[in-house]
Amino acid sequence: MIHITLPDGSKKSFEKGITPMDVAKSISEGLARNVISASFNGMKVETVTPLTTDGSLVLYTWKDDEGKAAFWHSSAHVLAQAIEELFPGAKLTIGPAIENGFYYDVDFGEHTVSEKDFKTIENKMLEIARGKHDFKMRSASKDEALSLYKDNEFKTELIKNLEDGTITFCDHSTFTDLCRGGHIPNTGIIKAVKVLSVAGAYWRGDENKPQLTRVYGISFPKQKELTEYLQLLEEAKKRDHRKLGKELELFTFSQKVGQGLPLWLPKGAALRERLENFLKTAQKKAGYEMVVTPHIGQKELYVTSGHYAKYGEDSFQPIHTPKEDEEFLLKPMNCPHHCEIYKSSQWSYKDLPKRFAEFGTVYRYEQSGELHGLTRVRGFTQDDAHLFCTPEQLDKEFKDVIDLVLYVFGSLGFENFTAQVSVRDPENPDKYIGDVSNWEKAEQAIINAAKDKGLDYVIETGEAAFYGPKLDFMVKDALGRRWQLGTIQVDYNLPERFDLTYKGSDNEMHRPVMIHRAPFGSMERFVALLLEHTGGNFPIWLMPIQVKILSLSEKYEKYSEKVLNLLENHEIRALVDHRNETIGKKIREAEMEKHPYMLIIGEQEKNENKVTVRKHGGQDLGMISTEDFAKIIKEDINKTLKSF
Ligand SMILES: [Zn+2]
Ligand SMILES: [Zn+2]
Repeated sequence: MIHITLPDGSKKSFEKGITPMDVAKSISEGLARNVISASFNGMKVETVTPLTTDGSLVLYTWKDDEGKAAFWHSSAHVLAQAIEELFPGAKLTIGPAIENGFYYDVDFGEHTVSEKDFKTIENKMLEIARGKHDFKMRSASKDEALSLYKDNEFKTELIKNLEDGTITFCDHSTFTDLCRGGHIPNTGIIKAVKVLSVAGAYWRGDENKPQLTRVYGISFPKQKELTEYLQLLEEAKKRDHRKLGKELELFTFSQKVGQGLPLWLPKGAALRERLENFLKTAQKKAGYEMVVTPHIGQKELYVTSGHYAKYGEDSFQPIHTPKEDEEFLLKPMNCPHHCEIYKSSQWSYKDLPKRFAEFGTVYRYEQSGELHGLTRVRGFTQDDAHLFCTPEQLDKEFKDVIDLVLYVFGSLGFENFTAQVSVRDPENPDKYIGDVSNWEKAEQAIINAAKDKGLDYVIETGEAAFYGPKLDFMVKDALGRRWQLGTIQVDYNLPERFDLTYKGSDNEMHRPVMIHRAPFGSMERFVALLLEHTGGNFPIWLMPIQVKILSLSEKYEKYSEKVLNLLENHEIRALVDHRNETIGKKIREAEMEKHPYMLIIGEQEKNENKVTVRKHGGQDLGMISTEDFAKIIKEDINKTLKSF
């Protein structure tokens, strides 16, 4: 008999050789129908793998990330089989599951594959899927593997790097692939497939190696799920921040200025300023002090901080002064500068915490192929701050930072998020710098803070940086995509390297603890995320123009100006459209520009001293007095922007 522990902690005894699927059946038929993958003692296994030792078993369904990974990994095999059948002579290389779907890199030889082939591939895949072929793993000797792939130099290269005795194949239908396992029970579970795109990809990502064709696909257990996914993709295209950024005139790029260097247009700059002021106001209340530091620093600064050794000289862009032969580097992060600000004074424990904040622009080298809109750039501004505190203060400081991050999320409409606490790997204590008891305190402080704030969090063992534990927020946007946002990092390393001290109540010198935090991450990435999350319909407090006043004709210019003045007195951002255009055209344009409110002004409105209110999206609020409208919009603003 063997003892199997399930995730809820319950233990069950089974005959040796039982499979995960048998265990599922022993729990319920319903569960067994839904189980598509499993892990045993933390290792991926097949649902038909015989279990021969005691251990803990986790069963996965489509709802789990692990279940999806197995589903898409298995679908990649089906795609490979379809390609092999449809394009004789095509050489398969590797085909992993990815976050949304899977791909296969193929050397198509004489064939070229394009969008017009997608339907044929999909139909072939579905035909194979309907055969309900079991996925079966088996071991193979190195010789056997090499002979199967004697005409495929790519697989041959992979096999040559494997130890004899560790090589496994997966068979289904008439198809065999080199594979380490992790499949769903059979192909019949795959009910809907879509070939999404093809792209060029170098073998092993090396541009000196042959170019292959990467075929991207996705699959689902239900047709309905595929339809929903495709709708989501359509919506994501509409919300692409590069497209919206252009339409809303927020930012641009210039080849002349350089790739990956965004240029903020007046409307974009105004948006940034509002975001910055919003955070500055909250930070001021939370006891932060603004500092300003230069865009460059001496090489020595980054040697001291350890960044130079860690990131390598290639990541830094050097600047040499012409006469004095000094070497400066473009600033890739603000922390070293802030450490030197801390060092400019002698601090006592009574002075701490010190909280230095800066909207600091940094520069990092990214390969041109990696650049993407505002999300991957070479120059960006972090909403950075570094907190220096005593170990005893860490607990409270951490909670306060979480409050600030949650305030930012709440005010900007990010309601769906989880937290991840990254702690040490206790098996590898040598990997980490700093005092063990301090680490314990810090990890406990983060976990307590997460609990205290009611966060939905997971603890990831071994995920901490060598210099300290951290808390990451994973935000889900309106389209269900996950983004990492708002890291809070404890650091024992930089205070040590910069020899930062404070005088304790015992009159001895001590090391402060440092916290790095940036709720937005960077202004660039955050604006991109916000655009894609809201589709450009920002929370009303952030909207560049909250109200557009549309007059029916020039006759009402004076009255329109009066309405504008009144709104401006209430600190509402408004604009009048006086142009001699039809009201229909004016409304359509105002809709495109996403102004939250439109006020229509004509004869009756002027005579009765009122305005007709229309909301973005078409909702009609009727004719009311301007004062009443000001009250409505102010309430709207206060609803989205609470005070900190
Ligand atoms: Zn496989
Ligand atoms: Zn930092």
